[in-house]
Amino acid sequence: MSKRALITGITGQDGSYLAEFLLSMGYQVYGLVRRTSTVRYERIRHIQDQVTLVPGDMSDQTSLTRALQDVKPDEVYNLAAQSFVQTSWSQPVFTGDVTALGVTRMLDAILMVNPAIRFYQASSSEMFGKVQEVPQTEKTPFYPRSPYGVAKVYGHWITVNYRESYNLHASSGILFNHESPRRGLEFVTRKVTYHAAKIKLGLAKELRIGNLDSQRDWGFAGDYVRAMWLMLQQDSPDDFVVATGQTHSVQRLLELAFDVVGLKWQDYTVQDPAFVRPAEVDLLIGNPEKAGRVLGWEPHISFEQLVQMMVEADLAALKNGELT
Ligand code: NDP
Ligand code: GDP
Repeated sequence: MSKRALITGITGQDGSYLAEFLLSMGYQVYGLVRRTSTVRYERIRHIQDQVTLVPGDMSDQTSLTRALQDVKPDEVYNLAAQSFVQTSWSQPVFTGDVTALGVTRMLDAILMVNPAIRFYQASSSEMFGKVQEVPQTEKTPFYPRSPYGVAKVYGHWITVNYRESYNLHASSGILFNHESPRRGLEFVTRKVTYHAAKIKLGLAKELRIGNLDSQRDWGFAGDYVRAMWLMLQQDSPDDFVVATGQTHSVQRLLELAFDVVGLKWQDYTVQDPAFVRPAEVDLLIGNPEKAGRVLGWEPHISFEQLVQMMVEADLAALKNGELT
């Protein structure tokens, strides 16, 4: 019998890649979707006939319990979150409710409905924030720098706590930034690749941006969802850093993206204080040694390949009218 997986956040970047991956592994895939006045399933449009969508919201306990009762999953991947750091300062309570307490709601629903369900929590390198050591490992102390980072620290520890309190198979993946042509337009990688493509095609004149000096360990989302699945296939639950082990500045991202379209980033980029954050995370670089050793996981796409892939996808989407 094929396994059943429930993905929260299936309409997001990672949800769409994970759904594709689990379908390719022969899973029956279910996705939790919240009600919105405008339906936006662009990222899963190509697989919508192969997945089953169930209604629910991370802020509503009853809906999560019902979803588990109806779907009867073997595995739950909790990817739903208010996931944008900048928004977490303007909506700190909502971010805490969905990104932090939502994890407890799902864990509690698992406990009530079927404690044998395996659980994956989408933890984040933003938990390291003002980094206490370089590179960051599973043992590096957390020092979050945004309401989002704080909410993710809560989600991480409640996952560990339910594992230890109730013996749940609950694992936390501490994923460093991962990107793709499906990344939200507000995140810096996609913002840069989209604007480089738009400027090249004469559809925009400039790119307004914040801090050029911050450094991130950027990988490809398609590589990272494989690590999520591998965690739930282990005999014992655990926590894993998933990263490339390399870091690059926002300025390097600009250089690479504008290079792809044959332009100089300095001619089109304007620094705008509106995009500078109240508290910054200056440097993230992960050590994926444990994920390599225990899970046999490694990334396949380099940063340079990732940026090229994203610029080319944005050029193509702008040309064929999928993007404006
Ligand atoms: P996205 O922002 O692309 O997707 C977030 C998903 O969560 C969407 O499907 C969204 O639904 C859903 N969602 C938001 N609020 C609710 C709610 N109240 N109830 C139900 N669903 C909700 O994020 P990513 O795919 O990039 O990231 C997936 C997870 O991994 C997130 O938890 C993120 O914080 C975490 N993470 C991501 C990293 C990255 O670099 N991408 C790094 C480390 C962690 P809708 O479409 O309706 O908005
Ligand atoms: P994050 O690491 O989850 O916050 O991912 P983002 O892609 O939103 O931001 C990565 C880094 O890029 C942060 O240090 C931001 O301060 C920096 N950055 C600089 N300019 C911008 C911008 O215009 N938009 C965003 N989103 N980030 C920017």
